[in-house]
Amino acid sequence: MIQLHDKFFKPFLSESQIKQAVQHIADKIALDYKDQTPIFVGVLNGSFMFVSDFLKAYQHPCEVSFVKLSSYHGLTSTGIVETLLDLPDTIEGRSVIILEDIIDTGRTLKELVHLFSNTNVKEFKIASLFYKSEVYNGEYAIDYFGLEIADRFIVGYGLDYKELGRNLKEVYQLNQKHMINLVLFGKPGAGKGTQAQFLKEKYNLQHISTGDVFRFNIKNGTELGTLAKSYIDKGDLVPDAITIKMLEDEVNKNPEADGFIFDGFPRTVAQAEALDNLLESKDMMINATIALEANDEILIARLLERGKVSGRTDDQDSEKIRNRFDEYNQKTAPLKEYYEEQIKFHGVNGIGTIAEITERLTKVVNGL
Ligand code: 5GP
Repeated sequence: MIQLHDKFFKPFLSESQIKQAVQHIADKIALDYKDQTPIFVGVLNGSFMFVSDFLKAYQHPCEVSFVKLSSYHGLTSTGIVETLLDLPDTIEGRSVIILEDIIDTGRTLKELVHLFSNTNVKEFKIASLFYKSEVYNGEYAIDYFGLEIADRFIVGYGLDYKELGRNLKEVYQLNQKHMINLVLFGKPGAGKGTQAQFLKEKYNLQHISTGDVFRFNIKNGTELGTLAKSYIDKGDLVPDAITIKMLEDEVNKNPEADGFIFDGFPRTVAQAEALDNLLESKDMMINATIALEANDEILIARLLERGKVSGRTDDQDSEKIRNRFDEYNQKTAPLKEYYEEQIKFHGVNGIGTIAEITERLTKVVNGL
């Protein structure tokens, strides 16, 4: 998997598959034109690699020229095609074969045909290395193509995502998998850690515990960790923007994950909004917020038991435990409302055996 700007791409075509497709087009065109001297017109920028390899595969008399049009911005065609580099004047009376890197909707092609309609060429043919037949509007015949591909966004071998990726020797496709991104809530003792571990393994999710992320960044003296520490040392709260940036780094570090479990964040509605914004910028979203719910008295009994074994002082005093519960109730109540409005909130009964609770969580996640 590779990353270009904010997006991840996975391998799609190898160098040898591309080479084969290029050779295929060259052989087909040679059958029709080897006894003439056609002019190949490459469409910049995307076709430069194709044109170069094509000419090496086409060992017959020919001339080469380029035009430059622009219609793509980011991942989608804008529909506005501009001519940035015009046709040579030597094409009158000649056989012209357009060399395109990819034909998608066909808007660029329409513009090309328009461009050539004002000239007196003998013949005008279209060759494209890649051809998205499902989305092509079918207005003009595609005379030659190397490979028919499904409607997916690809990069490499001349094709870019926001100008990056053109120099890749292979072709990659946008990684658009169905992700499961969860926010996990639960009072102390509700079994959040145990269940997060289970979800992580079963669904190949990355568990992002804000506490762990903070400790990691501070311990390793990262730029964000040092910045966060400067607030903590003064006794101030770390600004949300810093926490969000740390979470973004964690998301970026784990492109293979099928989703993320956010644990310990968000704690306020402002943070929930910031998390939504971060995910949206990555074409991701929170799919569900799951709260492990349990009766306070049962949790207190559990924690006191745990306190005896672990020695954690905050687990040994029922008054302190109740204060933590109060804080949890105060903080999560507005978040519950926030996620209920988005129809993403799921309360799961946290009383029972680990396996029973796991089963309830599985039902929620499988239903997403
Ligand atoms: P059309 O005008 O046929 O919709 O799109 C043609 C142009 O859009 C191509 O020359 C190329 O610049 C761009 N394009 C179309 N599909 C893709 C794609 O999957 N990846 C990249 N990087 N560019 C594409």
